[in-house]
Amino acid sequence: MLNDYFSILGGERPARHWVSSRIPAGHECLDELPDEELWLLHERGMEAFRRAWEDRAWPGEAASPSLLDLKAALARRMLRDCHMCERRCGVDRAAGQRGFCGVGATSRVASIFLHFGEEPELVPSHTVFFSGCTFRCIYCQNWDIAMDARTGSPADPSYLASALVQGMRQGSRNANFVGGNPDPNLHTILETIIVLGEDGKNLPMVWNSNMYTSLEAMRLLEGVMDIYLADFRYGNDDCARKYSDVERYFEVVSRNFSIAHRQGEIMLRQLLLPGHLRCCTERIMQWVAENMPDVYFNLMFQYRPEYRASLYPEMNRRPSGEEKREAVAIASRLGIALC
Ligand code: SF4
Repeated sequence: MLNDYFSILGGERPARHWVSSRIPAGHECLDELPDEELWLLHERGMEAFRRAWEDRAWPGEAASPSLLDLKAALARRMLRDCHMCERRCGVDRAAGQRGFCGVGATSRVASIFLHFGEEPELVPSHTVFFSGCTFRCIYCQNWDIAMDARTGSPADPSYLASALVQGMRQGSRNANFVGGNPDPNLHTILETIIVLGEDGKNLPMVWNSNMYTSLEAMRLLEGVMDIYLADFRYGNDDCARKYSDVERYFEVVSRNFSIAHRQGEIMLRQLLLPGHLRCCTERIMQWVAENMPDVYFNLMFQYRPEYRASLYPEMNRRPSGEEKREAVAIASRLGIALC
């Protein structure tokens, strides 16, 4: 489990983004090309990446422009008709418009620090908390930064990259992009990783997301993210709509888990919600048992009513001891090893 992650940390192989920085974009002037041609170049570049990754190759010189530059160019184009997540607002963030998440063209960072509260394999995790989110969870524990995309300071990729280098000197084991949610900040994250360059050769990248990422953004994450630290919260669309104001939840999130399983390593987080053992936890476990039974599965019991949860009486309590015990029993019955 997490073999690639530990190999990168141990210096036995480079991080995915470093390999992508060695693969030529296939054209000198990316800004001159229409979107369709950029995507064609991206597909060709990804074929080269997949070959190099499977061969455990250490490609030589950095390319300029590289596949990583190409990905950043495509992410910047996405800003003009935003579809970084599956809400697909279609707003022109580059021209100052804002969509559901409220994030502008310039990302904002609420905080960045070495986090000791993540899963043991990740700690200390250099965590970048972006402002704004693509969900509206009524029990959000980070509501102060998630619900207001104008909090924090403008994100500067050079500053973020130098902070990550500082963090490595202090023992960080990865760069962890979260929020809120990382999705609206894809362009900033890619630009940060480009600036990081050689210094990030053995720094695994972590996409810490609600997994409502668009298909196009998932394509850009391949060859960049080493770990998907990913929430699987709801087992059906009704609960997702009621408590997070999101449509098509199960279809989108299960799709993205399948994609992530092919293109990186997953650390799945399932937060047990009070009264949602059967409709959410059990259904998610059933899906996992059928589709990726070997996945790292973190069943989380730390739900507590926060933010607006008191307005929903059924959510205004912690999960009971019996619910916790039953969740563990369901995992065992389905053959899921809890981490
Ligand atoms: S990131 Fe998602 S929610 Fe935000 S503007 Fe883009 S499509 Fe809309």
